[in-house]
Amino acid sequence: MKRLLDVSDLRVMFHTYRGTIKALNGVRLWLNEEERLGIVGETGCGKSVSALSVMRLIEAPGEIIDGQILFEGNDILKLSEEEMDRHIRGKRMSMIFQEPISALNPVFKVGFQIAEAIAHRNDIDIGDAYKLVPESLEMVGLDWKRSIDLYPHELSGGMAQRAMIAMALAIKPKLLIADEPTSALDVTIQAQILQLLDELVKIGKNAVILITHDLGVASEFCDRITVMYAGNVIEISNSEEIFDEPLHPYTKGLISSIPIIGASRELTGIPGSVPDLVSPPSGCRFHPRCDFCFDRCRMELPALSEILPGHFVACHLYSDGVKEG
Ligand code: SF4
Ligand code: MG
Repeated sequence: MKRLLDVSDLRVMFHTYRGTIKALNGVRLWLNEEERLGIVGETGCGKSVSALSVMRLIEAPGEIIDGQILFEGNDILKLSEEEMDRHIRGKRMSMIFQEPISALNPVFKVGFQIAEAIAHRNDIDIGDAYKLVPESLEMVGLDWKRSIDLYPHELSGGMAQRAMIAMALAIKPKLLIADEPTSALDVTIQAQILQLLDELVKIGKNAVILITHDLGVASEFCDRITVMYAGNVIEISNSEEIFDEPLHPYTKGLISSIPIIGASRELTGIPGSVPDLVSPPSGCRFHPRCDFCFDRCRMELPALSEILPGHFVACHLYSDGVKEG
């Protein structure tokens, strides 16, 4: 399968009155065409910032300091804003967000917004695009006659997310980024939305980046998982292996904090708290919370290396492919 996205050494900072937040500290991730990658981690670990960087939607006071984002072989960090808008964003890639109602434009009817997306994608006029809207709405399970003329505030959360999905997939993107698409919805609606997404991306052959704090959801939906902690990618593995053989102490903590019985699988239960990224810990950013910490961990940031085939970890316990501890 062809490589679709290849992100390396991505560094993003936010300049705030408190100081500079080192939000992404050399992030590495990739995905192939039609592949589904889950990005998992606690709030503030850099999942959304990574996604927004790929869409080139980081705005001041945020800044992409360094790195490379190859999309279909081209470094999109080198594109002008106009090129990004004309060729990539809303054409080759699209995004759905946690709060669909605030992501939709409140002053335009749903049908019009979808038509605009289709018109932009295909360089056709809005009248022609509008004819394609009923099909898009029906595809996501909305009755088009009843929903096409509604304003976003007239939709329930679940309907709004369906409308967002319709809009994001109407452009037939190579890459769909879904940032916590179900976190704001009721539990029963969450499952429906994930199932809908699952069916539609299968049909559309879209590659997907699913951002979630729920490792269970990510591993069910995705082929591969990238675990992030405090602005770093700390482990990458396929979805089965991350559960069967987690390598990084943080990932192990995440998995052991998942209750075996019960629906809630929030990532909690690791002692300590997420570091302040204005002054992150030296060396391995996880070291203040890690039971296995040794001297080297406080001084040196561990590099991401492949320990098992396709299974990468950034931890000094594993050096040159040999597990030391
Ligand atoms: Fe723990 Fe050291 Fe590994 Fe960091 S590098 S996770 S501190 S053992
Ligand atoms: Mg987020």
